[in-house]
Amino acid sequence: MHFNAYGGTGSLVAVDLLNAPDRGHATLSRVLAAHQISRPDLTPEQANNLASWLELVRPVFGEADTGRQVDTLNDLLRTVATGVQIGVHDGSEPHLHYVNQAIDTAERVKATIAGGLAVAVCGVGGRRLGRCDRTPCAIVYIDTSRNGRRRYCSRTCATRVNVAAHRRRATE
Ligand SMILES: [Zn+2]
Ligand SMILES: [Zn+2]
Repeated sequence: MHFNAYGGTGSLVAVDLLNAPDRGHATLSRVLAAHQISRPDLTPEQANNLASWLELVRPVFGEADTGRQVDTLNDLLRTVATGVQIGVHDGSEPHLHYVNQAIDTAERVKATIAGGLAVAVCGVGGRRLGRCDRTPCAIVYIDTSRNGRRRYCSRTCATRVNVAAHRRRATE
């Protein structure tokens, strides 16, 4: 599977930041470092800024209405992705940069995320940006399954829902 069609680093970083256990700068910086974002260390202010922006991204996942998903992403792109270029550096494959890379890490990551998710919507369809169906789990994920019908973040959540449904049937 070629992950580029799913938005590459931008999609993966979005998912891991949204699912991160807390919004502290240490945690968010660790996520950025894990995805080879350059200069990954965020100050507490940058982390707060990025964390509140991420809440604008969250509704893109698990959105069944493609029109609304596209509107949200276009709004985000308009403000954060201000200069698309192809980047080749540090031995990486050519990939898209959505903003001047010299800017602040938080702003650069926003552009990477908005751009990556836009590529995913255009490349594989917005339904691939999923959110776990088990309330209140709400973990987000990129659905790379063959049929694109993944509904849960994990086997654990799928099993819990099935067990609950089974119990309900058994007591009816
Ligand atoms: Zn790059
Ligand atoms: Zn789940």
